[in-house]
Amino acid sequence: MKILFIIIDGLGDKPIPQLKNKTPLEAAFTPNLDSLVKRGICGLIEPFFFPWQKNPRSDTAHLALFGYNPRVYYSGRGLYEAVGVGMKMQKGDVALRTNFGTVNKNQKIIDRRAGRISDTKPLVRALSGITINGVKFLISDSLGHRAVLILRGKNISEKIGGGDIKKIGIKPQKIISLERSKEAEFTAKVLNQFLEKAHQILVRHPLNKKRKKQKLLPANYLLVRGPGKLKKTPNFYQKYKLRAACIAAGHVYKGVAKVLGMDLVKVKGATGNIDTNLKSKFSAVKRNFKKHDFIFCHIKATDILSEDGNFLGKKKFIEKIDKHIKSLIELRNTLIVVTADHSTCSQLKRHCETAIPVLIYGNGQDSVEKFSERACRRGKLGKVKQIHLMSKILKLAKK
Ligand code: ZN
Repeated sequence: MKILFIIIDGLGDKPIPQLKNKTPLEAAFTPNLDSLVKRGICGLIEPFFFPWQKNPRSDTAHLALFGYNPRVYYSGRGLYEAVGVGMKMQKGDVALRTNFGTVNKNQKIIDRRAGRISDTKPLVRALSGITINGVKFLISDSLGHRAVLILRGKNISEKIGGGDIKKIGIKPQKIISLERSKEAEFTAKVLNQFLEKAHQILVRHPLNKKRKKQKLLPANYLLVRGPGKLKKTPNFYQKYKLRAACIAAGHVYKGVAKVLGMDLVKVKGATGNIDTNLKSKFSAVKRNFKKHDFIFCHIKATDILSEDGNFLGKKKFIEKIDKHIKSLIELRNTLIVVTADHSTCSQLKRHCETAIPVLIYGNGQDSVEKFSERACRRGKLGKVKQIHLMSKILKLAKK
């Protein structure tokens, strides 16, 4: 059987008093998802996260969902962001996620997003091609105020701290080495030099002078975090003998998929936001099964709405997904899996460790009738660790 893997980011939630103590998924009217549940099997997933993460994060959770142990293969968010924006990572490179931020005359951060600047291309161009002590700095713009920075050279280490602890009113953190190695100390030193040089260039840049005149915050400092390096990772096809494709708009999801060797499918109108075009995403799913055996389809809006505390919007968006998912039920000889990378609790406005509902349609049946956190507890699949889900799916797809 072919496998369709639909990840509704941040789907799970906790009961909400304003929804009569139901979760957004429970409160949502989902006749199509429920019909898959009635004819399929359900369970709950325990999300993976490292103790230092405190809560699940999308990158490590996706690795676990695909059956790649993050303890072995994870190497920092920067890597996935870099690959996701289309930068070519070479062996030994270190990549960092970057924000264009604003510091004042005293070098204190006053805005981590430089007034949510939307086009940083001229700034990125001004920072390109800088080399310090044999280390080349490559930078690419990403969505809005975001960018990705790659350090390329000999003896570069990812064992360094970031400059951004997500606080304002303080100076950016000096980059420090996290281990006593020549490589990490050297990397921290050259990165600090680069960040200072970048600051000098950005302060004088015409775009920032123009922004100041327009009473907009200048994008005058690079706030970096999440260093990551390529690790030797078995390709999805080598590992599972499945030709895999990824339909996602967010860079980190595309990055994880690309690192695992999945083909990236471009879809018109897919934005990775609440305005995403689900119809074209799901048509792309159907088209791409001609050439692929495994399709990972990612939907981000539910996570964004939960992080905004918008549980009603989340409920409505789940209903929208339900409406569009109808077109996929007709797929033949395909195991349909619907789940999430983690739960996002709308009242806490952040990712949370609440177990995630999963439904698998196409082989087997249990007595669950509604797709929800509570109902899936009684499913035949039971409680599964995220890292073990893929092997369960493969077994079901083989029968
Ligand atoms: Zn996520």
